[in-house]
Amino acid sequence: MAITVDKLGEQTKNETMVVKIISLREKETKTEKGEGVYHYGMLGDGSGTLPFTAWSIPATIRAGDVVELKNFTVKKYNDALRVYIDSKTEVVLRPDDKLDVKHVYKEYKIKELNLKDAFVSVTGILKDPIEKTYEKDGQAKTVVHSTFEDDTGSIRISLFDRKLAPGRYYKIDGAKLSEYKGRYRLTAGDKTQIAEVGSFSIPDIKIYDINELARPVDSINITGTVVFLGDKGGLISRCSECRKTIDDIRCPDHPEAKIFLDLYAYFTIEDGTGDIQCNVGRAGMLELLNLKEEDLNIEKPKVSKADVSKRLAEKILSVPILLDGDAVMGTNGISFRARRIRRMDEPLLKKVMEAYEGEML
Ligand SMILES: [Zn+2]
Repeated sequence: MAITVDKLGEQTKNETMVVKIISLREKETKTEKGEGVYHYGMLGDGSGTLPFTAWSIPATIRAGDVVELKNFTVKKYNDALRVYIDSKTEVVLRPDDKLDVKHVYKEYKIKELNLKDAFVSVTGILKDPIEKTYEKDGQAKTVVHSTFEDDTGSIRISLFDRKLAPGRYYKIDGAKLSEYKGRYRLTAGDKTQIAEVGSFSIPDIKIYDINELARPVDSINITGTVVFLGDKGGLISRCSECRKTIDDIRCPDHPEAKIFLDLYAYFTIEDGTGDIQCNVGRAGMLELLNLKEEDLNIEKPKVSKADVSKRLAEKILSVPILLDGDAVMGTNGISFRARRIRRMDEPLLKKVMEAYEGEML
């Protein structure tokens, strides 16, 4: 009786299994014994998949082949089981066999996602769906862009030809992870399996130490004090055509285009573990400075550039603040795009302390 992939363990010995070689790659090695070549890849059957390393494998084997393996070993490598094929292993090609592979994806918390694993399993709540239609092969199709959140952060997800209910919890298996403009996103296609699961608690505040931020993650919090405030921020004028900041009363490239007032700030925040560059746009600044949209009417603005700079400095310098936003990857590493900035008052400090304690439990 042959063993199946899901039954393999470190104790597995003298077993036979029939598997599909899903991928097969070659790598050169140099040791004191000289140069050599080994192969590695993924194998699987109807019960699951595992990575393998082959110190010796027949040259005729290709990715997609079904093979019978005898006398292989199973060991843990980097915390995951791996099948080892060596000169004692018998590898018999089974050219007439067909085998459907069941993919098992590694489960990730959103903050742990990284591009080394392109297909992943995540569990969380679906929020804020926006439906769009597009055309493919003359047919109207739909894609729903949403936010998917767990207790460590959130990520954008695009669901093709599927509708999920916002506010419900799902386990999504085999979503594809990619990076776009410094943020991670997931794509769920027809091979992605989605199942509704029970709800679990997701804290409002997800505090990160600044030195932990190594990869993009959305909807998190950092706290600290501002150690540098950029003087080009504040109340600015923008061209409505190219959206560039205008120093003059006209855009040099679009002299006919309307100019509008906007709010923007950039600063560095420090929390004792490290520092990070941050920026905040219009919505976050309006809230922070207690301003309304109509205050920015360029015909009769209620605030001047000097007012805004003064209020901004008063609000964020030399007091602890809490930021809500996204850690974004840029050319200079990770920066923070704040959606909301709050001064740390008593009730907020209490919430933050609770978030820290929750993390330690
Ligand atoms: Zn312009």
